[in-house]
Amino acid sequence: MNIAVLAGDGIGPEIIAQAVRLLDVLKAEGFDIELEYGLIGGSAVDATGEPYPEMTHQLVSRADAVLLGAVGGPQYDVLPRPQRPERGLLAIRKALNLFANLRPAILYPELAKASSLKPDVVAGLDIMIVRELTGDIYFGKPRGIEMRDGQRVGVNTMVYNEAEIQRIAHVAFRTAQKRNRRLCSVDKMNVLECTQLWRDVVEETGKAYPDVKLSHMLVDNAAMQLVRDPKQFDVIVTGNMFGDILSDEASMLTGSIGMLPSASLDSHNKGLYEPIHGSAPDIAGKNVANPLATILSVAMMMRYTFNQEDVAQHIEEAVKKVLVQGLRTSDIASQGMHVLGTREMGDAVLSAF
Ligand code: NAD
Repeated sequence: MNIAVLAGDGIGPEIIAQAVRLLDVLKAEGFDIELEYGLIGGSAVDATGEPYPEMTHQLVSRADAVLLGAVGGPQYDVLPRPQRPERGLLAIRKALNLFANLRPAILYPELAKASSLKPDVVAGLDIMIVRELTGDIYFGKPRGIEMRDGQRVGVNTMVYNEAEIQRIAHVAFRTAQKRNRRLCSVDKMNVLECTQLWRDVVEETGKAYPDVKLSHMLVDNAAMQLVRDPKQFDVIVTGNMFGDILSDEASMLTGSIGMLPSASLDSHNKGLYEPIHGSAPDIAGKNVANPLATILSVAMMMRYTFNQEDVAQHIEEAVKKVLVQGLRTSDIASQGMHVLGTREMGDAVLSAF
C-alpha cells in the first residue's frame, strides 16, 4: 500500500497526524504500508510558488492512494487565481482522472442532536452519494458570455456521453453491492435530454447488477426527499452539478462537518481520500480540530482502494466506540460530554481500535 500523504494547510497537519498514527499501527500489525509525504495548497505555494508542484505530481502518480488534509487560508486569498491553494485540489483531481466522488452522509445516533432536523428523522442516517466529477455542465462547451442582438447572453452546455455515464454507473452499482444493494439515480429527464440519456444508460448498465435494486428520481424531488425522509436512501448516483448540490445538502443534514470523509476514485480504484471540511484557519494550531473525518477517510481508503473491508469496519467501529463512551471534540460536544483535543481524540480512537 503506497500512500501519498499531503497534509496541506490550516488544521491539515494536525488532523493528518492522527490518521498517520492509525496507519502506523496497521503497519506494526503487519500491513505492507509505505507512506511518502508531499506538499499541496498554500504550504506548497510557500515552498515552491505553486499549489501543485511537479514533485507532488510525481509522488501521487506513483502512489496507490492519496490521503489529503485540507488546503487554503486567508493569507492566500490575495494571490492570482492560478496560485490559489484550491487550484492544487482541482489540479490533482484532473491529473489523476478522479471521476467518481463518493461522499457518505452518516449521522451516528449519539450525534443526532447536531442536526437541524428532528432526531427521529436523521438518527442513524447512512447514505452514500456518488457524484460524477469530471463532466456535465461544469466542463461542457460552448460556454461563456457573449453579445447576441445587442444584449449579453450567458451559455453553458450540459453534456455526457454514454461511456462517461457507464463508468460512474458501474462505480455506483459496485458501491451499492458493498452496502444495502439499493441505488437511486437522480436526473431531470422530464426537461433535459442529456439526463434522459443518463437514465437510459444507468438502466442498461443495471442489467449487469441484478442484485441491486435500481430506482430513479427527479432532482427536485430528491432535494425534497433528502430533508423529508433521508433514511429512505442507500446509494444515490448523479451527475456533476446535481451531485454538487445534493451532496452538500446531505452532508449538512448531519450537522457534523468534522465527521465526514470522502473518496474520489479513478477507473482502477486509485483514490484521493480527504475530509469534506476545509482547512478551518480559525482553529488551526490549537489542538481542537476534530480528526475523525480524516480517520474515517482512512477507513474509506481501506475499503475502496485496498479492498480491506474488515480493516475499514474495524476503524469505523473504533470511532463509534469513542462516541458511545461520550468522548467528543468541541465541535460535536453537547452538555455532559467529555471534551478532548485533536491528539487526545486520536489517542481515544487508537485505544478503541
Ligand atoms: P471550513 O470547512 O474550513 O470551516 C467551516 C467551519 O467549520 C469553521 O468554523 C471551522 O472551524 C469548522 N471546522 C471545519 N473542520 C473542522 C474540524 N475538523 N473540526 C472542528 N471544526 C471544524 O470552511 P471555510 O471556513 O469556508 O474555509 C476555510 C478554508 O478552507 C478556505 O481557504 C477554503 O477555500 C478552504 N476549503 C478547502 C477545502 C478542501 O481542502 N477540500 C474544502 C472547503 C474549504
